[in-house]
Amino acid sequence: MASQEDNLKKIISHCKEYGFVFQSSEIYDGLAAVYDYGQYGAELKNNIKDYWWRSMVQLHDNMVGIDSAIFMHPKVWKASGHVDGFSDPLIDNKDSKKRYRADELIEGQLEKIQQKINKEIDKAAKRFGDRFDEKQFCETNPRVLVNQEKINTLNKRFVKALEENNLKELRQIILDQEIVCPVSGSRNWTDVRQFNLMFTTQIGSTAEGASEIYLRPETAQGIFVNYLNVQKSARMKIPFGIAQIGKAFRNEIIARQFIIRMREFEQMEMQFFVRPGEEMKWFEYWKEARLKWHHALGMPDEDYRIHTHEKLAHYANAAVDIEFRFPFGFKELEGIHSRTDFDLSQHEKFSAKKLQYFDPEIEESYIPYVVETSIGLDRMFLSILSFAYHEEKLADGSERVVLKIPPALSPVKVAILPLVKKDGMDEKAIQIFKELRFHFNCQYDEKDSIGKRYRRQDAIGTPYAITVDGQTLKDSTVTVRYRDTMEQRRISVDELLVEITKDVAIEHILKSL
Ligand code: ATP
Repeated sequence: MASQEDNLKKIISHCKEYGFVFQSSEIYDGLAAVYDYGQYGAELKNNIKDYWWRSMVQLHDNMVGIDSAIFMHPKVWKASGHVDGFSDPLIDNKDSKKRYRADELIEGQLEKIQQKINKEIDKAAKRFGDRFDEKQFCETNPRVLVNQEKINTLNKRFVKALEENNLKELRQIILDQEIVCPVSGSRNWTDVRQFNLMFTTQIGSTAEGASEIYLRPETAQGIFVNYLNVQKSARMKIPFGIAQIGKAFRNEIIARQFIIRMREFEQMEMQFFVRPGEEMKWFEYWKEARLKWHHALGMPDEDYRIHTHEKLAHYANAAVDIEFRFPFGFKELEGIHSRTDFDLSQHEKFSAKKLQYFDPEIEESYIPYVVETSIGLDRMFLSILSFAYHEEKLADGSERVVLKIPPALSPVKVAILPLVKKDGMDEKAIQIFKELRFHFNCQYDEKDSIGKRYRRQDAIGTPYAITVDGQTLKDSTVTVRYRDTMEQRRISVDELLVEITKDVAIEHILKSL
């Protein structure tokens, strides 16, 4: 069986070979942690956005969508806390000159100890077979107890250092734990420094008159500063939501795992404005609603899990992540946060403009509380490909790579293929293609053998392939080949639209929400 890392490598090379994702500026040796979406990647991304936008904006009476600018007044980021607080603690190894996140080094150490415990458990489980009682074993085995104690002590010290922003202590933990650089193997560490993740650039025509501004690290602030504009112009009543899809930028220090951690990425965020005191009810509502949105795509429930935050950001009073099982393990896909009135209160303070909402029902003015759902479009994209990528051995001994993308999100919905390019089969196929493309993204392909053409469509995840053959010219029937089962059925050309719509229409998924 291929290792998990191998699976990721295979997905990355498949993405390049079939035009889903390319390294940015590849001919110049690439730009780290920046990626371009190719012809099929762009289609898949658009389909994900469409599914999200329609489920949020179109299906909620109390929701509207906006598109705010990437550049914002620099004070926005002061008010939001990003200028002072949006940073990672970094440490360099003096021998390898490699840079690491201090918190990740310590988390790695915690994980190492945990793995020692897991090994003991596995060993004992094998030895005792059916009689094995894991709970009892963990509570009594001396080696497990020692290691569990190590985890508890280290974790306590680590969390305290993070909470107090004590960089000296973070370094001391790394030294005390004898953590070595994976590259040089040495413990020759620099001090820990905070590194702000926001990109800056100049606005204005001359350097002299220019002032420094930031590229937004999240789309949420564009919603906060416009909340009253939207509320008034759309005459929204609380509770209501504002949704937005857009680019965000973070100068991530350690960029790895493909499109999981990019420096330029896309977010789909929604801020839901509620009456103070009602935020927990809405937090639960959105947690359920968002999980349902994921499950409706038909990917296995076991591939998702909820991670509840113990340590909350300063502005939050509840937070969970929806995690997905990527090829390298579970990782955050979406965050749902109860952000209190922190952001709006800060903007009121920094802008000196009143941002209160008058609630006609209770005849009171207040700053609304906010529940946020924030999903990374690129991570969503990778979750779909991780699920969809299959290598299959076929009955005749050959192999195929097939992307079992949920049909409603597939980049191309239907391929129309003349069996051979003669006797008018190609003309008939083009005629069908020209009709169907009003309804779906279609592809006409006449090059190579029919088998090769099927493989090409499997590799880009096209759910239907229609073959036009000699019989088509006689009775106007075609064969429809289904991607996942490879089953073929003969149906009349007149039935094609209904047959294909059954599976590829996003409406069916939306109705199940
Ligand atoms: P992480 O802990 O993985 O860095 P985060 O907690 O900083 O993520 P949020 O600020 O909550 O992430 O952003 C919301 C969503 O945006 C995340 O759930 C993720 O899907 C996406 N996201 C965040 N940073 C990146 C990035 N550098 N590249 C791609 N997607 C990202």
